[in-house]
Amino acid sequence: MQDKQRSLAGKMAIVTGAASGIGAGIARLLAAHGCRVVIADVDKVEGRRIAEEFDGNGYFCHLDVTSEDSWLALMSEVNRHWGAVDILVNNAGIGSAESIEEVSLDVWHQILAVNTTGVFLGCRCAIQSMKNSGGGSIINISSALGLRPLSSTPAYGASKAAVVNLTKTTALQCAEKGYQIRCNAINPGFIMTPLLENAMAAAEDPDALLKGYSDLHPMGCVGSIDDVAQAALFLAGDESQFITGIALPVDGGMTI
Ligand code: NAP
Repeated sequence: MQDKQRSLAGKMAIVTGAASGIGAGIARLLAAHGCRVVIADVDKVEGRRIAEEFDGNGYFCHLDVTSEDSWLALMSEVNRHWGAVDILVNNAGIGSAESIEEVSLDVWHQILAVNTTGVFLGCRCAIQSMKNSGGGSIINISSALGLRPLSSTPAYGASKAAVVNLTKTTALQCAEKGYQIRCNAINPGFIMTPLLENAMAAAEDPDALLKGYSDLHPMGCVGSIDDVAQAALFLAGDESQFITGIALPVDGGMTI
């Protein structure tokens, strides 16, 4: 383990939406750096499978991020099992690609419920736990589309822009109260996850689809799960101890 990441050894992290994609990547990297990791997800089968990869340092808990009761049950179960939370990664999120003229009110509510309300509930639960246990780090996975909108994703973009603002207000509240809790957002560009892989597998011309996504990024390619996980690792540990309230683009220049 490198010196700079020693601060994470023995810490306890909750990663929401960690049964798949970016969340699973963040969970794996935190576990590789000595964290005990709670995989919190609606997907029990994949969630348990990922948790088992970490032997005794992985634990699956069912969580629907949209439900306050589900959050309270998670925090109480985790507290009984492992004690206080040091790191929360609010990663669970869902997408939609319908323009403002097409998107239904039901879809709008669903996207906001998971992507924004889920992060709000997570931040509130984490503050409650961390402020009594010496502090911690909250990391919210927003999106480049929360900083630079596309006309095809109004609900998703609005939900992720709200996460940036919520991150800053959470960071300010914790700093003003002297809680020793930092809160930061990561804004990934398009990332090669199962979602994108499946879209390519289903496309008539997968290369053209990938080129379309790649061309949105000045660096000319989409990102990897590890690109996002490395940013989360940095924001989780003491190396970023004077950083709070930022929205960190990991996007190959997409938001320049
Ligand atoms: P993913 O592979 O679809 O994984 C998301 C996970 O969250 C899945 O296991 C999903 O379970 C779970 N989930 C969905 N609704 C939930 C809920 N209500 N409560 C708890 N868990 C729930 O997604 P991803 O591509 O890794 O994206 C992860 C995060 O990064 C999201 O916030 C996304 O908006 C953000 N992001 C992704 C990209 C990208 O290009 N992939 C770019 C920018 C930002 P089910 O599969 O059972 O629904």
